[in-house]
Formats: sequence, structure tokens, C-alpha cells
Amino acid sequence: MSNKAFDADVLIGGGGLVGPTLALALDQAGLSVAIIDASKPAETLAASFDGRAFAIAFASYRMWRALGLGEALDAVAQPIERIMVTDGEVGGARAGPSLLHLHFDRAELTDHDEPLGLMLEARHVRQALDAAIRATPSIKMIQPMSVTAIARDPAGVTATLADGQSLRAPLLVGADGRRSFVRGAVGIRTIGWDYPVTAIVATIAHEKPHDAVAHEYFLPNGPFAILPLKGERSNIVWAEPRAAAEALLNMPEADFLVELRKRFGDFLGELSLEGPRFGYPLSLQLAERMIDARVALAGDSAHGIHPLAGQGLNLGLKDCAALAECIADGVSVGLDPGEVSILERYQRWRRFDNVSMALGMEAFDKLFSNSFAPVRTARRLGLAAVNAVGPARRFFMKYAGGGAGDLPKLLRGESLAA
Ligand SMILES: Cc1cc2nc3c(=O)[nH]c(=O)nc-3n(C[C@H](O)[C@H](O)[C@H](O)COP(=O)(O)OP(=O)(O)OC[C@H]3O[C@@H](n4cnc5c(N)ncnc54)[C@H](O)[C@@H]3O)c2cc1C
Repeated sequence: MSNKAFDADVLIGGGGLVGPTLALALDQAGLSVAIIDASKPAETLAASFDGRAFAIAFASYRMWRALGLGEALDAVAQPIERIMVTDGEVGGARAGPSLLHLHFDRAELTDHDEPLGLMLEARHVRQALDAAIRATPSIKMIQPMSVTAIARDPAGVTATLADGQSLRAPLLVGADGRRSFVRGAVGIRTIGWDYPVTAIVATIAHEKPHDAVAHEYFLPNGPFAILPLKGERSNIVWAEPRAAAEALLNMPEADFLVELRKRFGDFLGELSLEGPRFGYPLSLQLAERMIDARVALAGDSAHGIHPLAGQGLNLGLKDCAALAECIADGVSVGLDPGEVSILERYQRWRRFDNVSMALGMEAFDKLFSNSFAPVRTARRLGLAAVNAVGPARRFFMKYAGGGAGDLPKLLRGESLAA
């Protein structure tokens, strides 16, 4: 569809990871899109910009493939075949995986042709999205540029940009991250709080192969994850109280490796740091609603959650799949992309999943950050008990893989093209 009164069918404020994915989905459904992003590509595409690697659920990965990113991502994605969740300890013989654990294995799923998830380094995802956007003429990328004002009327929304130009469309999507300008400008409030912890993220090279196993230890100060990457490498996400994290981020590399080994254990042999250490202060933030007149929120602007189970981006990708499908269905029966019935369907589809995941991570974090002895014993027995029950384990695997519930077409790997 196209209308001369508008510059695009949909404007997207924010071109991080969610904005470009949504743009590609809308393009597949035949809509024109303009993305306005504040960052400088030379910085965001550099390997030193973002040390994270994302655990991508297999359903989210299906969507990226359905949007044409498979060729760029398949070669660099590390499948996760097993996940070991253990209640760990720092130092001594108990460092590394413990015996009372929860164990997820792809081989147990009836439809085990897909892995439990895939690990993708942020730089690879950013580069693949950037190349796909640049190869799609109906998507206009305006960068580096901020949205600085928003005006709405019954027929559409006008976004004013930092250079004074304005763009108009029937719908504006705020995919502009946790400190979303779009969210604030339309008066959507948030609830949430800071966690007193910072996540230390780094890539570690190790002597022995990881065998595609992801580990999550619950240490007294917070979770510690070892996530397999291509080759003999893993990405760690290590939560520590703010001051301790600051010290770990700034201490000499050799001292950092000593501290790391006390948590990591020696099951993968010698460890070394590959690249810099990154610190991400953690907070919980939920928008009180995902829509307003002619505006929708997607990704971290709507929900910023604890990275404990690697679900934040996955939720944002589910938002993209649901919003693009709601818009495509609405447009196919003659509605414009910003009509309230489309936006309400989107919010109904996504709100419950986003809130329950955020609060689930919150409860999990509270339970596992507790070092009171009876609580520790109970959770260890709890992990072992869930582990003993096959159906419970299979349910968790399906949920974490994003394969549970009412899935939008793209998450089933289907195209939105008419
Ligand atoms: C340590 C850590 C580990 C994580 N691991 C995982 C994981 O394993 N799996 C997972 O699913 N998730 C994970 N997450 C969560 C994931 O990183 C986020 O959910 C994801 O990056 C959010 O993407 P986004 O596109 O919504 O926002 P962002 O990536 O924050 O992008 C927002 C964009 O908006 C732009 N912008 C801001 N304001 C404006 C404006 N006024 N005008 C125009 N542009 C603007 C910014 O420049 C930016 O490019 C992790 C998070 C952390 C902190």
C-alpha cells in the first residue's frame, strides 16, 4: 500500500535489533517503512561496540530465516544442544557444574530437528540486519538521526527529526530501547526498578570443546552463564553487585582470570580472554501498555527484563512477528496500519507473554540470589525434582525455545508475503 499524504506506511523510531527485524517483516507483507536511528553505523557495527552474544530461541531464529537472514547467520550460529542449570559455588571443588542439576537435552524433544536455541554474537546479528536493510529499497534507513517530537491527529502521526525534517505515516513504532523517546512522548509510563547488579560480559577462549552445552550456575551473588560460541569459545554473562563488578571489569586481565576460574571451574581446561570485558547495569522496566493512538511499542521500549534466561531480545522478536502479522491482516481487509483494532489485537497477543516472562525472571532471580541455607537446599532439590520429571523438562524446553502458545506465522517459519 502507499498513500501520497504519507512518507511511509510505517515509521520506526529505533534501528537497534528489533526495529530492523520489524522493518523486514513489514516489507515482506508489502508495506513501505522508514527507520530513524540515533546511532552511528560505524560504531554499532564495530566488534568492540557490543560484547554480548544472544541466546536465540529456535522460533525466533525461524523468523530471521523466513526474512532472508539465514544465509548470513547459519554459518556463524552455534546451536545449543543441551542446557545444564546448577546451583553453583565459588571456588574449591564445587566450582563448575554440580551434581544436583536441571538438564535440558534436544534429543528429548519429539520434534528434535531444531536445536534448543542458537548462540549468535551481537556483531554478526547487527551486520546481517544492516546488510538486509540496505538491500531492501522499500526500507529507508535514516541514521544517525533522532526523533525529537511527535504530533498526532486522527489520520496519522508526524515525527520531527533532529535536523528539522518531518516524516508522516499512519503508524509510528517505538523500537527505541529502554530509554524510549517515543514511549515518553506519548505519555506511556513504566514500572520497574534497578537491580543492584551489573552483568559482566566477555568472550572466553578455552582449551577443550564445549560440546554445544550451555551452563547456568546460580551463585550467591547472582547468575553466571557460560554460553557456547563457534569454535572453542564461550560467552559469559556474570552478574555481580555493582561495586564488585566495577572492580572485576577494571582489574588486570590475569587477576580477572583468577576470579573467573573460581566460578567457571576447570572442566573446559585453560581459559583466556578474547577481547574486552563489557558491563551492563541491570534493571526491570515494563511499559504500562504497548499502544497509544497511532503508536505501538516493540522490544526493550515495552519491556526490559533480567537477562537471566536470555529472553529479552526473544520477546522483542516475538513482538515484531505479532505486530507485522496484525498489520498485514488489517491492511488486507482495507484498514490502515495504525488503526486501533490492529493495535489492540497486537497488545492482546503480546502483553501477557511479556509481563509473565518479566515477572517470572524476577521470581527466579529472587529465589536463586538467596544464600539462606534452607532455601538453597530446597532449590537444589527442586532442580533435581524437575529434572526427574520428563514432561516438566520438555515443557520448559518448548517454552524457552519459543515454540509454546499461539505463534505468529513468522515464528512458525512462514512468510507474510500475500
Ligand atoms: C548482558 C545482557 C545479555 C543479554 N542476553 C540476551 C540473550 O541471550 N537473549 C535475548 O533474547 N536477549 C538478551 N538480552 C536482551 C537484549 O539485549 C535486548 O532485549 C535487545 O538488545 C533489545 O533490542 P531493541 O532493538 O529493543 O533495543 P536497542 O538494542 O536498545 O535499540 C534501540 C535503538 O534505538 C535508538 N534510539 C534511541 N532513542 C532514539 C531516538 N530518540 N530516535 C531514534 N533512535 C533512537 C538507539 O540508538 C538504538 O539503536 C541481553 C541483555 C543484556 C543486558
